[in-house]
Amino acid sequence: MLEQLLRIVQEVNEAPDLEKALAIIVRRVKKTVGADVCSVYLSDFDKREHVLQATDGLNRSAVGRVRLPLNRGLIGLVSERAELVNLDDASTHPRYMFIHETGEKRYRGFLGVPIIQNRRVLGVLVLRHREARRFGDDEVTLVVTIASQLAGAITHARASGELARLQGAEDLPNRFLQGLAASPGIAIGTAVVVYPLADLDAVPDRVAGDPAQEEAAFRAAVAAVVREIEHFAKRSARSLRPEDRAIFDAWRLMLESDILLDGTVEQIRAGNWAPGALRQVIAEHARVFQAMDDPYLRERASDVRDLGRRILMHLQNVEPRHIAYGPDTILVGEEISAMQLAAVPRECLAGIVSIKGSSSSHIAILARGLGVPVAMGVADLPVGRLEGKEVVVDGYRGRVYLAPGPVVRAEYQRLRDDDLALTNELENLRPLPSETPDGYTVPLFLNSGLVSENRPIGIEQADGIGLYRTELPFLVRDRFPGETSQYNNYRQVLETFHPRPVTIRTLDIGGDKPLPYFPIEESNPFLGWRGIRITLDHPDIFLTQARAMLRANLGLGNLQLLLPMISSVGEVDEAKRLIRRARDELREEGHEIEMPPLGVMIEVPAAVYLIEPLARRVDFLSVGTNDLTQYLLAVDRNNSHVAKLFDELHPAVLKALELVVAGARAHHREVSICGEMAGNPLAVPLLIGMGVHSLSMSAGSLLRVKWVVRNFSRAKARELVEIARQCEDAGCVRRLMMEALEEVGLIGLVRPGK
Ligand code: PEP
Ligand code: MG
Repeated sequence: MLEQLLRIVQEVNEAPDLEKALAIIVRRVKKTVGADVCSVYLSDFDKREHVLQATDGLNRSAVGRVRLPLNRGLIGLVSERAELVNLDDASTHPRYMFIHETGEKRYRGFLGVPIIQNRRVLGVLVLRHREARRFGDDEVTLVVTIASQLAGAITHARASGELARLQGAEDLPNRFLQGLAASPGIAIGTAVVVYPLADLDAVPDRVAGDPAQEEAAFRAAVAAVVREIEHFAKRSARSLRPEDRAIFDAWRLMLESDILLDGTVEQIRAGNWAPGALRQVIAEHARVFQAMDDPYLRERASDVRDLGRRILMHLQNVEPRHIAYGPDTILVGEEISAMQLAAVPRECLAGIVSIKGSSSSHIAILARGLGVPVAMGVADLPVGRLEGKEVVVDGYRGRVYLAPGPVVRAEYQRLRDDDLALTNELENLRPLPSETPDGYTVPLFLNSGLVSENRPIGIEQADGIGLYRTELPFLVRDRFPGETSQYNNYRQVLETFHPRPVTIRTLDIGGDKPLPYFPIEESNPFLGWRGIRITLDHPDIFLTQARAMLRANLGLGNLQLLLPMISSVGEVDEAKRLIRRARDELREEGHEIEMPPLGVMIEVPAAVYLIEPLARRVDFLSVGTNDLTQYLLAVDRNNSHVAKLFDELHPAVLKALELVVAGARAHHREVSICGEMAGNPLAVPLLIGMGVHSLSMSAGSLLRVKWVVRNFSRAKARELVEIARQCEDAGCVRRLMMEALEEVGLIGLVRPGK
C-alpha cells in the first residue's frame, strides 16, 4: 500500500493544475482501495456550499453542478467535525442525504475524510462501497494521507484564483492574493516586473587565460557598481531619510570589504576566471548571512547576492535593462532587491509586491521609510503575466488585487484618497511636540544600526537614539573591528545627535547571528550563547567595545550604555566591573572619562521577575518586546509557521510590562520600550497608560506614534489599561484598542479608510 501511495503522491505532484490532480486522485484512490466511488467535494466559503469537484464512479456531468449546503448531509458532518466518518451503512445514518443528480445508487459503505489546512476544512474526500462494510485501517490511512497532500494544492489553487475559476465564480476581479502587510498605505498602479540580473549561480568555474587581465576586469566591474550606487544615493538624497540612505554606505562597505575584494582576487590568482571566482566568494558570503536567524541580518544575504549579480553584469558587459518608469509604478517581482528599488525614481514609485520576503526585509524597511505601501510574501503571484497590468496594493492588510473590477477599483480609490489625507495630516505633526492632551511629554527615540561607519545619520524629529544596535559593523567584516574603528563609528553617532542622548547597546551577537570568523554550533541558538553571555565569556571583546564607547563619549557626555539579554544580576555586576575597568584603564592613559548612565534590556522573562534588584543596579531599563514576547509566549520570532501566535498584545506580555514599570518605579528608574511594540499604534496608548517613560522605534513609525500620543490623555490611557487587564486573550485587547483608535479618529493608522 505504501508503494502505491508514494506513486499516487508523485503523480499528483506532477499534475499541472488542481483539476488534473483531483482527477488523478479519484481514479487512483478508487482503484487502489477497490471502492465503487471516489469523489472530492470542495468548500465554497463564499456561497457556504460543498461543490462536487471530481468523481470516479458518479455521474461526471454532476461535477461542478452538485452543490450541498456546508452543514448538510454526511459531507457536512465530516466538515463540521473536522473528523473522518467511517460507516458500514450510510443510508441508515440520520444525516444521510440522497442526491439524484449524481446518479447515485444505493451505496452503503461510506468513508468521508476532511481535507484540512491550518485548522480550516477545505473539502471532503469521499469513498463509497456498494455493499455494507466499513473501510479497513490501511484504506483509511491511505485516504487520510492523500487528503493531507491535497490540502496544500487546494490552498495554492485558491490563492491563484484557479479554484474560483473551477467553481465558476463570476467575481474573479474582486478576489485578492493574500500576503504579509509590510508597509501601510494603498496603491493603485501599473505593474513593472523586475527579475534577477545576470544569473550568478549558472556561472561555471573556468581556468583563467590571463589572471592579471581577469583581475583588472573584476576591479573595473566593482568600480562600475560603486559608481552606480553613488548615482542611486545622490538621486535618493531628498526622498530617503538619512537613516535609510545609509544602506548605500553599507553596500559600498560590502563592495570594498576584504572578503569580497581580496577573496575574489585570491581565487583569480589561484587560477579561476573572474566570474567563477566571484560566484564562489558571493555564495560563501551570502551563506553566512543566510544562516542567521535574525531576519534583518538574514536580509543582508540578498544584498550580497545582488551586488554579485551587478558585478557579473558588468563583467559580462551587459548593460542594465533600461526601464522607463511611468507614474504609479508598482514594482513586482519574485524577490525585489534594494538596488532594484533604488533604480525607480521616488516620484514614480507607488507600491511594491513581492513573492518572497517579510516585513523585516530590507525592501520593507526602506519602503516604510519612503512611505510606499508594500505586500510581501505573496505566494502564488503570477509574476510572468503581470507586466503592464493594473494592480491594487493594500499595504495595511497585505492584499493584492490583479486587474481589479470596477467595484474594487472604486473602493480602493476612495481608500487611497483617505490615505493621502492621512499622510498630509501626519506631515503637519512634524513641528509639534510628542505630548498628550493633558500635557504629559512622551519622548520618542529612534532605533538605529542600519548605518555604516562612514556616514552620519540625523533625524530632526527624534529625541535621540533609544537603541543603537552595534552588530552590523561586526558582521560585515572578516574579523572583530578594533577599538579605533568602533570608536569612529560611535563617535559619529554621538556627535550627530549631540546633545540628545544616544543609547548604544553592547554586542548582541550569538548563535542566531553568527560571525563568519567566530563559529558557534548550537541546536537551540535562541536559548544559547548569545548577547551578554558571549561578551562576558570574552572580556576582551567587551572591554574593547566599552573602551571605544567611553572614549567616543569624551567631551560629549550623551552616551548611555545598554546591556542585552540579561537574565541574572550577576551578569550586570560583572559587566559593571568590566566597564569600570575600561574606565580606569583609560584614566590611566590620561583621558578624563566619566561613567555613562547604564541600562539593561528586559527581554528575558527572568529579568521581569528580577526587576527590582536589576533596577537597583542600573540607571534605566529598556524593554526589548521582540525577544520578551518570543520568550514569554515560546514563539520563535522568525518562524512563519507560528507567526500568528507572536502577539505583543497578549495579556501575558502586558502583565510582564506592568511588572517592569512597577519594579522600576519602586527604585525611581525610567522605563523605555525599544521593541517593535513601541511603533505599534494599537499598543502605544497602553504603554503610556502603564507609565512607560519613552518609546524607541524605526524612523517610519515616528509621526504615526506622535499622532497617537497627541490624542490620548494619560487618564484615558490608564482607563484603557484597566479594561485591558480584564482581557484573557490578545483578540480582546486588539478589539479594545481598535475601538479606542476609532473613537479618536485614528483608525486609519492601522487599517485603510477613515
Ligand atoms: C528586542 O528584542 O525587542 C530588541 C529591541 O532587540 P533585538 O530586536 O535587536 O533583539
Ligand atoms: Mg532583543
